[in-house]
Amino acid sequence: MPREQAPDLRGFISRLDRFPKPVVAAIHGAALGGGLEVALACHYRVATPTAKLGLPEVTLGVLPGAGGTQRLPRLLGAEQALGMMLSGQPVTGKQALELGLVDALAPGDAELLDTALEYAQAQASQPLPRISERRVEADPELFSQARAALPQTHRGQLSPGLIVDLAQMAAERPFEEGWEAEGRLFVQAKDSPQARALRHAFFAERAAAKVPGVTRDTPRRTVGQVSVIGAGTMGGGIAMSFLNAQIPVTLVEVRAEALSRGLDMIRRTYEGQVAKGRITAAERDGRLALLTSSLDMQAVASADLVVEAAFESMEVKRGIFEELGHLAKPGAVLATNTSTLDVNVLAAASQRPGDVLGLHFFSPAHVMRLLEVVRADATTPETLATALDVAARLGKVAVVVGVCDGFVGNRMLYAYRRAAVDLVDQGASPEAVDAALRDFGLPMGPFEMNDMAGLDIGHAVRVRQAHERGEPEPDGWVDRTVRAGRLGQKTGAGIYDYPEGRQPVPSPETARLIEAYRAEKGYQPRSFDSETIQRRLVSALVNEAAEILSEGVAQRASDIDVIYLTGYGFPRYRGGPLQWADETGLAEVVAVLEQAGQPVAPLLRELAESGRRFSDLDATA
Ligand code: NAD
Repeated sequence: MPREQAPDLRGFISRLDRFPKPVVAAIHGAALGGGLEVALACHYRVATPTAKLGLPEVTLGVLPGAGGTQRLPRLLGAEQALGMMLSGQPVTGKQALELGLVDALAPGDAELLDTALEYAQAQASQPLPRISERRVEADPELFSQARAALPQTHRGQLSPGLIVDLAQMAAERPFEEGWEAEGRLFVQAKDSPQARALRHAFFAERAAAKVPGVTRDTPRRTVGQVSVIGAGTMGGGIAMSFLNAQIPVTLVEVRAEALSRGLDMIRRTYEGQVAKGRITAAERDGRLALLTSSLDMQAVASADLVVEAAFESMEVKRGIFEELGHLAKPGAVLATNTSTLDVNVLAAASQRPGDVLGLHFFSPAHVMRLLEVVRADATTPETLATALDVAARLGKVAVVVGVCDGFVGNRMLYAYRRAAVDLVDQGASPEAVDAALRDFGLPMGPFEMNDMAGLDIGHAVRVRQAHERGEPEPDGWVDRTVRAGRLGQKTGAGIYDYPEGRQPVPSPETARLIEAYRAEKGYQPRSFDSETIQRRLVSALVNEAAEILSEGVAQRASDIDVIYLTGYGFPRYRGGPLQWADETGLAEVVAVLEQAGQPVAPLLRELAESGRRFSDLDATA
């Protein structure tokens, strides 16, 4: 429908509010956003206990724009209303009655209309209550406190601040004034880059679930029992992901002490969750009852799905997949959690490559939402469809990717890290780089992240890559940090010092090492402002993403954004690296890369020169 013919919600709501006869909203299902705003303009609200009521606009970078910011505080009080509008979280009909958001509850859907009519009739002798005519008292302190908390709760975002301003107007100004301001600010928020980014993120997650070659009719295998091989950091987390979804798991190890450590870790994690009130003791017991363990690989024989999470060594993993080929039952899906190794090689080793794929969980596996599902050359649609169904049961956001070194997320991270090291080579300090990326909205900068993961892990990858390419041993300043025995948080020192636990403190030793390195290479240090640092690093992500897209390792540009939003802490209000690039302008991204002396990916250059965007690739796909 053309915009000018679309129903005018604000106009309709004003008429409802003034309507001389009683209007009662009978609510079942979802009354979210505009739906709840209509209900708030009615004189009475009646709901079913399971109805969902809320104002989720903040999650899309906008604000309730049809009276919600003015009516909800007048009905519930400013504090309660602010909580609902800033979290965007809905409440049930039952909770809504307790809050005073609805006037009465119907027992169920079937009785809803009758209950609503009866309620309205019972009020017939009363004057019509109009929320717009109510007054709400609020201490101005409430609003200053809410504003002060925003940098922690909604860092970098525009619309939450506007919501607080409007809630304050509801408390302090006549309705008409707040209503007019709301209309104006709604348009401002809706047309902002943040709202575009959050809408993009919303649709990108839905698009990721659509996988070429997998349809509703693709046969699936039933997964009732899972084996996880390796009880280390990842194996334990992966096991808990399944247990949390009520799927029985057998944890298989080679070393008894590693097994008991892994089982302990799982128990302690659940204890911690009980202590924090996140799960009940009964839930903990229920999950642990689904867990068995074994030191014998034969135990995989009963599994419908095996997830291998042993050491990151081709030799170890190849051996395991050979064994799985013999031991796993016919039709079992065989998955590896490798971060870097070639899934095709493991598939071949199993002698049943159609059953094999990668399930790349992120650490901590029971917490992180992202799952890269690695489709190898011979993976059958049935195997893939089964894995995607399992991912959905685990509550993960699955993104299908192809085989390459580091898959999508980590491969881009290598490029990002190289750009970060390059900036330090040229004069930036590690702490300046980290601070700039935190200001951009990431939870931490690249060097803090390296220290947390362990510098030896990235170093091992670089050593392997150098060998594979016939290049000399890597010898940058981070490699020298590793050789000095400074491996990051776990050794109490890495790029940063850690005198007290996990809090990074700039290290004079690292500064000396970097200075000596620059002098040796003849680099002339210069300084970089925060914006230059941000643009260089995010452009490095974008450049690698363009290579990944042209190789077909990712199916669509928006999938790459989903990976960065759900697995790497990329701020959702920026929509992901490629949405950022589209918003910044691809010609600008090319210029940043050229200034940094980086080769520009041909696809990126082509898009920039033809005035297109990454989203145009998805639109034509
Ligand atoms: P880890 O060293 O903590 O655990 C590996 C475990 O596997 C050890 O307990 C070891 O005893 C066991 N093991 C080794 N060979 C085995 C065999 N043949 N059979 C059974 N168990 C065996 O390692 P991790 O950090 O948990 O990593 C496991 C895998 O997950 C690696 O492939 C890694 O690349 C990948 N991964 C790790 C992360 C991460 O952040 N740590 C993230 C994603 C993927």
